[in-house]
Amino acid sequence: MYKKLFTPGPTHVREKILNAQAAPMLHHRTKEYSELQRQATTKLQQLLYTKQHVYLYASSSTGMMEGSVRQASKKKILNTVNGAFSKRWHEITVANNIPCDTVEAPWGEAITPELVDEALSSGEYDALTVVFNETSTGLMNPVKEIAALVREKYPEVLILVDGVSGMAGAKIEFDAWGLDVCLAGTQKCFALPPGLTVCAVSDRARERALEIPNAGYYFSYQQMDKKYDKHQTPATPAVSLIQALNAQLDDILVVEGLENHWKRHEEMAAYVQNWARKYFGLFSDEKYLSLTLTNVKNTRGIDVAELNNRLALRGAAISNGYGPLKEKCFRIAHMGDLTLDDAKWITAQIEDILEL
Ligand SMILES: *Cc1c(COP(=O)(O)O)cnc(C)c1O
Repeated sequence: MYKKLFTPGPTHVREKILNAQAAPMLHHRTKEYSELQRQATTKLQQLLYTKQHVYLYASSSTGMMEGSVRQASKKKILNTVNGAFSKRWHEITVANNIPCDTVEAPWGEAITPELVDEALSSGEYDALTVVFNETSTGLMNPVKEIAALVREKYPEVLILVDGVSGMAGAKIEFDAWGLDVCLAGTQKCFALPPGLTVCAVSDRARERALEIPNAGYYFSYQQMDKKYDKHQTPATPAVSLIQALNAQLDDILVVEGLENHWKRHEEMAAYVQNWARKYFGLFSDEKYLSLTLTNVKNTRGIDVAELNNRLALRGAAISNGYGPLKEKCFRIAHMGDLTLDDAKWITAQIEDILEL
């Protein structure tokens, strides 16, 4: 049975977008395709407030988490870790034999500029990784403030951001903040099917990549740049997903409008957070709560798996707590094309099932 997804990826995909994806196939070495990629890229630059390059990879986000660390460092990478996905980025860095260290905060606490400053002051690093929105804990790291510190005090340090569950749901001003890489798969806030990753890359990061031996091939900015001005990609792109992306970006930028788009997410987040405070609790530090998903602390000791079974009968799905937080928390996504009415509906279903 069809279930409306309130899970933090994949998210609910509207029928209009599914239909856009089913449009007739284009050959990727034609003017028609180039025009499609040009339009989608220009709209992504608007969404990310950037004039720099934005690439499209046929891959899930994890592919580009690997691709980006391979092209970032001639010295050592600092991996900031405060949840499952930031830990994954460290594991990826290690698996590629790239020199790296971690600086850690407990799950549910933020990576702060102070923490980053202390770690970078040793002078060993020329790149750092940070997850914007930790999907495992429901926390948003203060990436803008971290970037301000790094740009001011450590100009050679590249800032690599996993924006997977935040990009297109919360404002990321790529150029103004001074970021170097920001990547996201489209199955989260973009509300598209999985299989496509968007990645903004600074000119600074593209220049650094040229100096790195064994920087890889598939995700290489240098390879992508051979076709960039032609609005094509060296390997076959995910044409159908890019058609869906192009349609979705029109709805975000033109039909809804960017400011309304951000406002909708803020309203949904405030609503679900208040609901969680009233009936349960919040797992993460109140100062850094995510705008795109709420990690509800299971203070009532409910059976989360059973709640999800009952929700399924009503045509919806939420997510259990991630990894060690299974049954200790549950996660409600308020990203993508979900609305305040959807947020009110799902929380009302939970109240009804649990007789709250
Ligand atoms: C979902 C997620 C990933 C992994 O994305 P894939 O598309 O499954 O590779 C990485 N980071 C964060 C923060 C995520 O939410």
